[in-house]
Amino acid sequence: MQQTWDVVVVGAGPAGTAAAMSALRTRPGARVLLLDRADFPRDKACGDGIAPQALDELARMGAADVLADRVPVRRLRIVAPGGGQVATTLERPDHVVPRTLFDARLVEAAVCRGAVLQRRTVRRLDVRADEVVLDDEVRARVVVGADGANGVVRRAVGAGRQPDTAMAVAVRGYAAAPPGEPEQRIVMTARDWPAYAWSFAAGDGTANVGFGMLLPSLRAAPRGGRAELHGRLEELLPGVRAERLVSHHLPLSSVRPPLRPGRVLLAGDALSLINPLTGEGIFYALLSGRLAGAAAVGDGDPGRAYARLVRDELGRHLRHTTLLARLTRRPRLVDAGVAAAARSPRSLDALVELGLGRGLITPALAGGLARELLLG
Ligand SMILES: Cc1cc2nc3c(=O)[nH]c(=O)nc-3n(C[C@H](O)[C@H](O)[C@H](O)COP(=O)(O)OP(=O)(O)OC[C@H]3O[C@@H](n4cnc5c(N)ncnc54)[C@H](O)[C@@H]3O)c2cc1C
Repeated sequence: MQQTWDVVVVGAGPAGTAAAMSALRTRPGARVLLLDRADFPRDKACGDGIAPQALDELARMGAADVLADRVPVRRLRIVAPGGGQVATTLERPDHVVPRTLFDARLVEAAVCRGAVLQRRTVRRLDVRADEVVLDDEVRARVVVGADGANGVVRRAVGAGRQPDTAMAVAVRGYAAAPPGEPEQRIVMTARDWPAYAWSFAAGDGTANVGFGMLLPSLRAAPRGGRAELHGRLEELLPGVRAERLVSHHLPLSSVRPPLRPGRVLLAGDALSLINPLTGEGIFYALLSGRLAGAAAVGDGDPGRAYARLVRDELGRHLRHTTLLARLTRRPRLVDAGVAAAARSPRSLDALVELGLGRGLITPALAGGLARELLLG
């Protein structure tokens, strides 16, 4: 048997690398092992959209330089299910960075700070009173499960599968970007709502394009599976020739596994922290990874400490987005939201913060929605 690590992180995506960096920042000299089944750089099905809130998280961990050479993308256009639009120039830009590059840079940053990276596909966890043993070989005081959607750690601790009703599926590919200033374009559709396509220009002549919908709608769709996702992408973004198409699940935060006391903490997609309004998950992965890393090397029960931190930082936001996701099952409310955003910058800011960060349903947004619904 090997030495006992202070923290073993399973999964070296944004959540896992943030957990490793945060543990080492909170307790310099901690023995942190970062395990991933893949060699880096590795691809990950994603829209590659990195919100400014995610950049804030990187800055908190002293890792903002991973985006330093990337082009900021300020233009945002949202097309509502009913066809109405809002287009704006964001004060705080997004970045569009292929995950092959972004995640490899995060891994490098974690290793530079002292994490030990090993390639391993974790299959089993034995949770004991004083330690956790992985695959009968690796011993840890605390484990952070950051192994993404459908991860093994979540199953091993009995936290259950994500219900289909709170699971989305999306396909992404790469295409030539439309001419002009780089823009993030979201095209919603009333058919099988909630469902939307995106085209996120990276600023280097390429765009990440994709389409996503809820799993039950995909199962019920006539073509089903990949053919349905690819077909809908072509319909909503006509003329776009996408290559390198891959799809993946998105566990939405409207249903999450419980935060439990103990030595095993779940972060990022493993904790179902994808925004149900937008499908954004990188910010929540970085944030929850940071909290998990700090709790893992802190005093007292790590699971209890982590639960408190997550509730303090995200509790209200998660309640508000869950409520709004339920209300917006009717596309008319989304049409009203986009119309309110087109009319009022304050409503637009509130919507963006709800979809990408820690935002709440503000009085300005609620008033704007009510007004549009009454007018419409
Ligand atoms: C098509 C699509 C588009 C998306 N677009 C966006 C977007 O534009 N912006 C955004 O913010 N979010 C987006 N998301 C969500 C975002 O991709 C995820 O929320 C984010 O990757 C979560 O990070 P994570 O670290 O939790 O998990 P991941 O990034 O999935 O990382 C998990 C890691 O764990 C490893 N792993 C898995 N199992 C094991 C195992 N048994 N042993 C060892 N290692 C293991 C994997 O190799 C992987 O490296 C999108 C998702 C999809 C599917």
